[in-house]
Amino acid sequence: MKILTMKFGGTSVADIDRIRAVRDIISDEVKDGWNVVAVVSAMSKETNKLIDLAKQAGVESLVDPEYDSLISTGEDVSSSLLAIALNSIEISARSWRGWQLPVRTDSFHSNSKIEEIETIKLINSFKEGLKVGVVSGFQGIERAGRITTLGRGGSDTSAVAIAAAINAVRCDIYTDVSGIYTTDPRIKRNASKLKKISFEEMLEMASLGANVLQTRAVELAMRHKVPITVLNSFSKEEGTLVCDEEEIMEKNIVSGIAFQKNESQLTLTNVEDKPGVAAKIFGPLASSGVNIDMIVQSNTETGLTNITFSCPVDDLDVAKKAISKAKEDNQISYERLIDNKNLAKVSIVGIGMKTHAGVAQKMFETLSEENININVISTSEIKLSVLIERKYLELAVRSLHDAFGLQNL
Ligand code: ASP
Ligand code: MG
Repeated sequence: MKILTMKFGGTSVADIDRIRAVRDIISDEVKDGWNVVAVVSAMSKETNKLIDLAKQAGVESLVDPEYDSLISTGEDVSSSLLAIALNSIEISARSWRGWQLPVRTDSFHSNSKIEEIETIKLINSFKEGLKVGVVSGFQGIERAGRITTLGRGGSDTSAVAIAAAINAVRCDIYTDVSGIYTTDPRIKRNASKLKKISFEEMLEMASLGANVLQTRAVELAMRHKVPITVLNSFSKEEGTLVCDEEEIMEKNIVSGIAFQKNESQLTLTNVEDKPGVAAKIFGPLASSGVNIDMIVQSNTETGLTNITFSCPVDDLDVAKKAISKAKEDNQISYERLIDNKNLAKVSIVGIGMKTHAGVAQKMFETLSEENININVISTSEIKLSVLIERKYLELAVRSLHDAFGLQNL
């Protein structure tokens, strides 16, 4: 039995016309002999509407089971509509909600992790002649029987997890862009579409703000070696294959430029330079749920040091409070707390960086030619990130894109 998993995002099932277009995309695969598991998101904007209603009704916490029970319903509408549309052209289809398979998760509501997926019902139904199983993405069920959801954008994760569990040959993710680009084409018009990108690179791109795939979905695909093809449900272009590094013969030194627009930084001056201080600073930040990204500590000979870290602008006030409280409680000492909310992060990503020198120098030179100052730098094996003034973000992305010749990839 040839099984293919296909996932359709919110804009791809936004209305009945779009659902008919999706029906036809699936129908072509069925005609090619595939059994299809189609995983769907809610119709575009529906989840936001439901979240808004929950707030109006007075939901107090995102870990409230009723919250998940409500916001998961958007997917049920689209999965049933798609099954109806398929049946209407004589392609046998039926819908499954997350709990009907079931997709078992932990009980961390609104951001649950998948523990196990039963695929036996899907497989049996294919054996009995069903062509398409339509599954509501984003949903699961926890041990006590309550409905859970997998975090915003979670139907990508549903699709990859089902593909892994059912041993699907492919996982095609249909969205409203034609693949993964070297950077956001809205900022750099000649950004090129990548034919292939490795899981590792995609993970960096996804977590660095290229919002095409949910980060967790890429992690899962990497772990289970599920190749993903990102395709456009609005056009018949060739998409981008996200796959294992070994399957990419020509490795790009730099494959893409990712960025995050709303970053901030906080500096603590004259912090005591002795063991345990960093733990006392970052402990309270972690307990307050602040998403720390880059960290720098300067070396001094005076016994005092400055520590700077970055976090999303939205977390800055919470971070400031946590630090000030730790000082009041005599847990830490510092002289001044200096914040800057007007920052952005730009990163260059590429597996070829593992084996090529000179990439950092080229990046810094390019930025300096544009007179862009770098506040903080961080690196990994396949990524180099800098924190800069937000007003230079677009200039930085464009000049780096040119400097690394990404328009020709
Ligand atoms: N409908 C959910 C959301 O909007 C899940 C998804 O689209 O992947 O976050
Ligand atoms: Mg999505």
